Parts: sequence; structure tokens; C-alpha cells
Amino acid sequence: MGPPRILIVDDDPGAIHVLARLLAADAGLSVATSGEDGLRIAREVKPDLVLLDAEMPVMSGFDVCRALKADPELNHVPVIFVTSHKDEDFEVSGFDAGAADFIGKPINPRLVRVRVQNQLRVKRMGDELRRNASTDGLTGLFNRAWLDQAIEREWRRAQRGCEALSLLLIDVDHFKLYNDHYGHPAGDRCLQAIAGALKKVCRRPADVAGRFGGEEFALLLPDTNAHGAQFVAAQLLSTIESLGLGHAASPTSPIVSASVGIASWDPTANHDFPMDSIDATDGVAALVDEADRGLYRAKHAGRARACFAAPAVTRGSEPRIQATGTA
Ligand code: GH3
Ligand code: MG
Ligand code: MG
Ligand code: MG
Repeated sequence: MGPPRILIVDDDPGAIHVLARLLAADAGLSVATSGEDGLRIAREVKPDLVLLDAEMPVMSGFDVCRALKADPELNHVPVIFVTSHKDEDFEVSGFDAGAADFIGKPINPRLVRVRVQNQLRVKRMGDELRRNASTDGLTGLFNRAWLDQAIEREWRRAQRGCEALSLLLIDVDHFKLYNDHYGHPAGDRCLQAIAGALKKVCRRPADVAGRFGGEEFALLLPDTNAHGAQFVAAQLLSTIESLGLGHAASPTSPIVSASVGIASWDPTANHDFPMDSIDATDGVAALVDEADRGLYRAKHAGRARACFAAPAVTRGSEPRIQATGTA
């Protein structure tokens, strides 16, 4: 975690200069001399704190603050208004617009430092909470709640942009027998190793690897069609195989393997998955259900493979691992 980043927005370069001198030692600084630029830079650099001049032409500090609070990626960033009007009405409307605090002009250096440190501390605690709320403790992957949100978000994005979207559901084979044979702590380590394999195969920044629950995982692959999803599934199977974790109790493989269900929504294909008319909640459920049916097929076809819900004549053969490793 590097130093915090503070964005200073003021139409008076002199005021920016004074604040920047005060804060440069403890934070990375970005500056803007108009509300429009301030908003653009905020979206670009995702600062930890915004110091915002209330009085600016065209787009006022209030407008900027409201826009920040309406942006889901920025609404948790604290905003301190810097202003020469510090009366009661002004402060009330500032808080209404979403401000966290106020700094009076002319600048009082000691007050600026403590108010800034205060808000940065609140931001850090919030970041930590958000991170914990989105992460699975055992594996460090995203948790179920986060995955559900991500699937819905990506579903909407795919529909809007007419892009493909794929989901892999991954279930460790005969994992109950693994626990019974090697013990629960070894089972936990096995799940961590599988999580590592998931992280390894999702290379694009938009890919999301998560723990769906128990010994089940998910890979969400935006802008990826059935062909791409099949490729990633094959890579995942061989990465898990190359872990070479012995599974002496498994009736189907001498090493730990997993089964994968693949679901793809591809707006450019005339496919068996007519989803453009469906709303996001139903769409997400349909995508998960489709992947789940693929998983069921993979399990019943002998495990250690990836399947779609229904075999398609146009697709190549579904990825399958011939377990060759020894324990
Ligand atoms: P299949 O090949 O059909 O998937 O068989 P399976 O044994 O993997 O499936 P089943 O659903 O019967 O068993 C899943 C097991 O996963 C049972 C449960 O104890 C274990 N499990 C779930 N979460 C954890 C965990 O966090 N740690 C460990 N060690 N085991 C877990
Ligand atoms: Mg001004
Ligand atoms: Mg399971
Ligand atoms: Mg299982």
C-alpha cells in the first residue's frame, strides 16, 4: 500500500500551491483548476481524498461533489470543501451534497493537516472493510457475495455492449473422500492450491476468480465467447493436473482433479441460449444454471473435464484431462 493520493481542485492556482506545499510530504498529489477537470482526474486516479474549492465557475464544488457521490467507483472517496464561506447554511448544504468536512480559507496549516489525516484514516478503515467484505478468508479469492454482484454487473455490461460473457463453475472431484483420507487441514491446503490455479489462468484484468462455496469455485470471463471459455477451462484443468496433488482415495484419478461447467452468452452466435430479452436477475440465474448443468454433465461423464450444458456440433471436443500424474 503506497502513500495516499489526494486530489486538490481549485480555480485559484495560488490556493492549490499553498495546499500542495502542506501535503506533499505525506501524500501523492493530483491537481485540477476546474470542476470538470477535477471530475475527470478523479475518475482516472481514484484518489483517497478530494480537497474541493466550493466556489468555481461553470461547475461548482457542490456539482463536483454530487457527481462524485453518484459514481459507484468514487462515492466512498471523502470530500473536504475548502471555502471562505463557513456559515451554517453553507455547511448544511455541503453535507447534503456529500461532503465529509470543511476547511476555511485562509488556510490554517495545522487544521488542514489534522482534518486531512482524519479523513485519510476513515478512508483506510473503509477500504479495509470493503476488502474483507469481498474476499474469501481461506483462499483470498473473491467471495460468493462479490461474485454474485460481479456476475450481475458483467451481465448488464455484456448486454449493453453486445459482448460475449462466459462463466465457469469448478467443483473439486471426490473432495469429501480427500478430506476423509488426508484430514480437513490438508483439504484446506488443497483448496488454496486450486485457488492458485484459478488465479493463474485468469490473465485478463476483467476476469474474476471467486469461491462459490465449499469446494466450488467460479471464473467469470467478460468479453469471452464459448471458444475462449473452453480454452480457459482446458488451461485450468491442466494447471490443476500439474499441481500433482495425490488423491489416493479417489476412484477416478490418482491426483486431485476438478470438473468444470461452462456457460457462454454470445450475442453474435445463433445459439441455444436466447438471453437478450431477459432482465439481469433472470439472466444471471440462467447463466449460473447453464454452467451448473454443464458441471453435472462433466461429473457424470467421468469427472476431470469441462462440459457445456448441451454438446454442440459446432464446438470442438470438450476439454478433458487424462490423469497421468502419480502421487
Ligand atoms: P464430487 O466429485 O461429486 O464433487 O464429490 P465431492 O466429494 O467433492 O462432493 P461433496 O459435495 O459430497 O463433498 C464436498 C466436500 O467438500 C464436503 C465438505 O466437507 C468439503 N468442504 C467444503 N468446504 C470445505 C472447506 O472449506 N475445507 C475443507 N477441508 N473441506 C471442505
Ligand atoms: Mg474558487
Ligand atoms: Mg460440490
Ligand atoms: Mg466436489
